[in-house]
Amino acid sequence: RAKQDGRGAYRFFEPEMDLRLRERRAMQAEMRDALPRGEFCLHYQPQAETATGVVSGFEALLRWESPKRGSVQPSEFVPLAEENGLIVELGEFVLRTACAEAVTWANPLTVAVNLSPVQFEHGDLPALVRQVLAETGLDPKRLELEITEGVLIHDFARALKVLEEIKALGVCIAMDDFGTGYSSLAYLQAFPFDRIKIDRSFVASLDGNRQSEAIIRAIVGLGRGLNVPITAEGVETEEQHAFLAALDCTDIQGFLIGKPEPIGNFRALVGLKKAAQKVA
Ligand code: C2E
Ligand code: MG
Ligand code: MG
Ligand code: MG
Repeated sequence: RAKQDGRGAYRFFEPEMDLRLRERRAMQAEMRDALPRGEFCLHYQPQAETATGVVSGFEALLRWESPKRGSVQPSEFVPLAEENGLIVELGEFVLRTACAEAVTWANPLTVAVNLSPVQFEHGDLPALVRQVLAETGLDPKRLELEITEGVLIHDFARALKVLEEIKALGVCIAMDDFGTGYSSLAYLQAFPFDRIKIDRSFVASLDGNRQSEAIIRAIVGLGRGLNVPITAEGVETEEQHAFLAALDCTDIQGFLIGKPEPIGNFRALVGLKKAAQKVA
């Protein structure tokens, strides 16, 4: 890549683009050291049953607390980590940390972990999941792996095979950000997902918007037909909650239930196992 940048033919960047590219490279270099330095951590966002509001699980969301940059958002650093492959190591950290955390909970709630398409292309993902489950002793049923359409776009046959191997371990597979991709329906037909998560853009635009209402109603109906639970993401208001409850959308996730926070803030919800209490 450096070679390419040096070649005259490729020097069509505007000066500010050149600066942005250098900024990206600098951030990528910092991220490599950030992992061993312990600057990455997980926040957990509660997911609840729509009808009762009872919390049924948490989604683990990666955070980078950079001493130099402050809190860096995943939307900024995940694409960079995917570009240089660091996401493979980071993803392993996320999976291991989330499973080790969940196993300490007295309340056997589920824990959801996001997987990057890059993790499917590099390394042996089923072996990693099997190893982490064995290491931590987490019941596979409590682990939910969230994938986006990006996983299935590149090498569809290979991705399917990997997903099937992971599912065979007893782990749940969720389709994240549903409705935003190009061929979401084809993917639902090709793989028996255990959960569908409605992208939060549809929920955010609800507010009396007939299109969004119709789309959400259709996705919830699809879930019912397929017998697959549906989680609506990004639920922020009581009005959105009421709309989803009237449709019998199974679960909700969003600021209304709780923002992603360090797990310590949810201690009352997850509890602490006796054995874990001793070491803590
Ligand atoms: P996602 O998997 O769809 O995660 C949900 C995102 O929506 C989170 O953003 C969460 O904070 C945000 N969110 C949840 N409820 C609300 C709400 O009510 N209102 C609003 N405005 N936002 C809400 P976050 O943590 O910034 O993560 C963004 C994306 O970064 C994630 O989207 C996921 O695609 C990616 N990501 C996060 N952690 C990881 C990770 O460990 N591995 C990988 N590969 N990707 C990750
Ligand atoms: Mg997700
Ligand atoms: Mg999502
Ligand atoms: Mg997303």
